[in-house]
Amino acid sequence: MGGTPTDLKLIDENGRRIDGRLPEEMRPLKIEAGVLKRADGSAYVEWGNNKVMAAVYGPRECHPRHLQNPERALVQCHYNMASFSVDDRKRPGPDRRSHEISKIISEALTNVVFTEYFPRTSIDVYIEVLQANAGTRCAGLTAASVALADAGVPMRDLVASCAAGKVADTVVVDLNKEEDNFGNADIPVGYVPRTGEIVLLQMDGDLSQEQFEKGLGMAVEACKKVSVLQRDALKRRYAAKADEGAEPTEIREGA
Ligand code: UDP
Repeated sequence: MGGTPTDLKLIDENGRRIDGRLPEEMRPLKIEAGVLKRADGSAYVEWGNNKVMAAVYGPRECHPRHLQNPERALVQCHYNMASFSVDDRKRPGPDRRSHEISKIISEALTNVVFTEYFPRTSIDVYIEVLQANAGTRCAGLTAASVALADAGVPMRDLVASCAAGKVADTVVVDLNKEEDNFGNADIPVGYVPRTGEIVLLQMDGDLSQEQFEKGLGMAVEACKKVSVLQRDALKRRYAAKADEGAEPTEIREGA
């Protein structure tokens, strides 16, 4: 957010954005499920110039023990941005921003996981941002949902996420870095397609009520497209698993 450099035109005379997109157009999104062998579930997302990995462990015994809930599982997200993920090297380790993002993603996912099935446990979700270009919390939440499904964690639905915002007085979806820096507002949304619930909603910047409602509607439409790609990634993963099952089992020397 902030003042636009005078030579930067965020919306051109044809209504196109700085990277050529129309207002309701998302950046290209690719999702792959089951990319890590050691995790119980995982997913990798490339969304525009964002590259994000999510890994899930659990349900497993909750540590520290005083956090255990005798009635349900605790969904604990750990969001981290690699020091090489941004232009200026990011100081490694947690900071206020990563704590905030971890908290809002944990809360969004808690809404869809059947936590009551796994009392006293913790379901740990690790989100590693390898390359950032604005919208990493949405990419992280989208990847985390797929990773949870890949881990076999029972859920009401996947959470799909995308932001809307305002640049040069135009409401747009899925802001890139320039738009995030020099635009007027950003509204990340987490949406549950099956129930129509919104499980993540933040707002940064200035919007009229009308612009907010328009942005929210556009973000929800974008989330529905994200949801289709999440499901496709899981279907590909299950098809690959079925193929693996058909192959002869590995024979180890000396076994
Ligand atoms: N960013 C950065 N350094 C930081 C934090 C963020 O360069 O320490 C960049 C990064 O590209 C990020 C963007 O600013 O994606 C927008 O950050 P924001 O806090 O709005 O979260 P996001 O849009 O990634 O969910």
